Amino acid sequence: MPNDWIVEERCPQCGGPVSMHEADRILTCAYCRVRLYVLAGNALPKYCLPVKPAPIGTIVMVPYWRLRAHRYRLLPSGVEPGAADCTAIAADVPGLAPSLGVRAQAVPLRFATPAAEGRFLPATRPPDLVFQQLERIRRVEQGLARGPRASEEEATTPSEATVTTASSLVYTPVRVSARSVFDAVLNRRIAGIDADRWKNAVPEGDDRPAPVRFLATLCPECGWQLEGATDTLVLLCVNCGRGWRAGESQLVPAPFDVLPADGWTPDAHLPFWRAGARAAATWADLVRLVNLPRVVQPAWEHEPLGFWFPAFTAHPEQFLRAAQTLTCARPGRPVAAAAEQAATPADEARASLQPRKCQAVTLPETALDEALFVLLATLGRARRGIREVLAAADLHVHERRLVYVPARFNGRELVNPELGLTVQTRQISAFSSRP
Ligand SMILES: [Zn+2]
Ligand SMILES: [Zn+2]
Repeated sequence: MPNDWIVEERCPQCGGPVSMHEADRILTCAYCRVRLYVLAGNALPKYCLPVKPAPIGTIVMVPYWRLRAHRYRLLPSGVEPGAADCTAIAADVPGLAPSLGVRAQAVPLRFATPAAEGRFLPATRPPDLVFQQLERIRRVEQGLARGPRASEEEATTPSEATVTTASSLVYTPVRVSARSVFDAVLNRRIAGIDADRWKNAVPEGDDRPAPVRFLATLCPECGWQLEGATDTLVLLCVNCGRGWRAGESQLVPAPFDVLPADGWTPDAHLPFWRAGARAAATWADLVRLVNLPRVVQPAWEHEPLGFWFPAFTAHPEQFLRAAQTLTCARPGRPVAAAAEQAATPADEARASLQPRKCQAVTLPETALDEALFVLLATLGRARRGIREVLAAADLHVHERRLVYVPARFNGRELVNPELGLTVQTRQISAFSSRP
């Protein structure tokens, strides 16, 4: 996998060397076989590039964002999905490169801990700024490359929306001596800047990382070994059927629902976030907000609306299509008597869930506000001035719940025929866990 960074650490249980992918949340030790959930401070994973020892100077750790995102260009002619995977400097510091380049792929990362050497500069440039900058660069490049017509279309609709699927901070060490400033990974002098100018320019403060905690992946309720791929945010218990996610210092309950399959046996379950927002609390609200081509029925005024977003790893196009499909299919909406035959469909659905055949939950809840904007903007593309309408609406997701949607494997893709959902399996993470 390109841009898949490696973190090298010591196993907290036996001290053996372990390596994990930067996106992983679960550390597995090849020596003592322990599986531990890695809990970084404040949910934002922080890593350091290693300091090369030297007898002079003091170390300053400079933060860079590592951001992965779905990017959608909202053009009058349609939606153009794309992906971003980038690093960008997160503090205003002179003399350093705007991105880490290939550096973090060449050198293994370590967890940032309070015991690390040096002063940690606070991250003062927010990720939005990074994405705005990316868009400016792209426009300049494409405006030149694609001729006046393309840039004219863009000028009338300056529209690019982002769903941040993963973010972390990666610190690179800088060594400051009495006179010079050095890149402390290689101990190479940074040209064009002297120590006095640097010291005056860099921000104050020491944003020391919180301790990294390692949590046993045992069910806090029943003690059973929890199931989940190494990059999952939610672990499931085979024994008691509960879900768990990382809280501030321990695993806390992650309640979820399971949609029933209509008379067939699921091969897998796909996790979705079902989100509620005040901007469209009912199905009738949504039809009006984005001008869906439907006549509002009186019952729709009372039908609570959920927005559905894939919580599993999906490509940008797949993500948007699945969100549109499920939101408009309105799973779980009140239906006629025919569906009431099963006495307790919810219990039966729960019983059909096999934790080992659930896709990993990788989309953080923090991405839902952005995802809601993208979904509404694309559903309402035909409505004039949709972006102005949305800018004035309350697009904050105020409730969310994890829902597992059953799917059947047809040899090539996972499908849910009732909902019209089709997911290419090559577009989602390996069937149950990373190889
Ligand atoms: Zn170990
Ligand atoms: Zn349990």
